[in-house]
Amino acid sequence: MPTEGWNFEHTYAELPQMFYCNQRPAAPRAPQMVVFNHTLAGSLGLNPGALEDSPEVFAGSVLPQGASPISQAYAGYQFGHFAMLGDGRAVLLGEHSAPDSRKFDIQLKGSGRTPYSRGGDGLAALSPMLREYIISEAMFALGIPTTRSLAVVLTGSNVNRGEALQGAILTRVASSHIRVGTFDYASAYGSKEDLQALADYSILRHFPRLAGEKSKYLLLLREVCRRQASLIAKWQLVGFIHGVMNTDNMTISGETIDYGPCAFMDTYSPDTVFSSIDTYGRYAYKNQPAIGAWNLSRFAQSLLPLIDENQDRAIELAEAEISGYLELYDEFWLAGMRAKLGLVSESGEDLQLVTELLGLMEMHKLDYTNTFRWLALAGREAKAPLEVAEFAPWLEKWRSRLSREYRNLEHAVELMKKHNPAVIPRNHRVEEALAAAEHDDLTVMQSLLSALIKPYEDSEAYSSPPEDTLREYKTFCGT
Ligand code: AMP
Ligand code: MG
Repeated sequence: MPTEGWNFEHTYAELPQMFYCNQRPAAPRAPQMVVFNHTLAGSLGLNPGALEDSPEVFAGSVLPQGASPISQAYAGYQFGHFAMLGDGRAVLLGEHSAPDSRKFDIQLKGSGRTPYSRGGDGLAALSPMLREYIISEAMFALGIPTTRSLAVVLTGSNVNRGEALQGAILTRVASSHIRVGTFDYASAYGSKEDLQALADYSILRHFPRLAGEKSKYLLLLREVCRRQASLIAKWQLVGFIHGVMNTDNMTISGETIDYGPCAFMDTYSPDTVFSSIDTYGRYAYKNQPAIGAWNLSRFAQSLLPLIDENQDRAIELAEAEISGYLELYDEFWLAGMRAKLGLVSESGEDLQLVTELLGLMEMHKLDYTNTFRWLALAGREAKAPLEVAEFAPWLEKWRSRLSREYRNLEHAVELMKKHNPAVIPRNHRVEEALAAAEHDDLTVMQSLLSALIKPYEDSEAYSSPPEDTLREYKTFCGT
């Protein structure tokens, strides 16, 4: 039998015992492969040929060579309130080293109950696991840091979600699963030594060049702030709404994690909320950058004892980093918006130009993604929905700004086409793919996936917003 190519280490299990528990996944008897990511497997140095016909490996029924499964403990501020959480339905098989020696967590999600399951059944249904697969792979193709999806298998048993749904397991690949919530946990329940062990581990794993620095814990905070500023700016620029930005769903690595109630916005509206439980709009599109700061403040608070022995001094230092995050976020976002508008130089009027455009888009209820794509083609002439009279003064201002930068507007068009996706995982398309997959038809999802991995190529089929844009779209957590 050809070797599957696993190369596991278990460094997380060298942390103090409070951070994990050994946990065998439940072992479904007749798992079936639904989708397997050949490209990702190849880039991880795994053997796709040996793995694509091995659903039992991705179901947890057969542990791959060298795996030593654990569930991780963490806490989190959920909608502002502290809660003890942990992997309630996941096991980490180990950290796999890719050929380029980068290390990746390989996690099974939906693999049965653990000591952290609280009232939950430890299971997952097919649709939400496929949804995570589709959206995480789309995010990756858009150049947005994210956990990846290696496979989804059916367990062969049903899960009860008010109705009987097919059970499934997702194999998630992440540069680690350390969360702000892991620090919330260490800070609430651990000693200073436990907290320091976690911080040192995070530094070695994600920011090794900080290891010898005197103020390495403050620098850890700074780096995490930087990565989150960059990540959240990228979300805003493509109209992505995470939906449940609790601190347990915010990574130290700066990867997007936990595709529960997330979705991409069609019509531009800063108040957009998709999550069924987000009654007050805490995690609305427009709030994401500020929630990032709120979460990073929780992270900073956990780190305070390590930052400085004098608490007042530690607070002062940490606050400066949070202000730094907000400034960085603004910088990253504006730089991204400039690229979306084809601008290569900086001008004091740019923020105004972008703000006016967003105001017009909101007023005219324009599709967020398509407006920028239309603009790429509208360097010279207005395109359909932009032909309204109210747009003319703005278009003129933008064109005159462009003409100061370029002799040949074709270059602007080229730049814009690289920064404005034509294809995003639109809700109605994702839902259609999931509905077909529920009935054993995977072709709809496969063609959606093949469009999503080339997001900057025009695709008539996948760039249309839903016909009924007013229909409210709702997404759900813990499904
Ligand atoms: P999430 O909303 O997916 O970020 O999950 C929040 C917490 O609930 C995490 O600790 C999960 O492990 C846990 N959880 C979600 N769904 C289940 C489930 N079906 N069974 C047990 N725990 C779950
Ligand atoms: Mg989560």
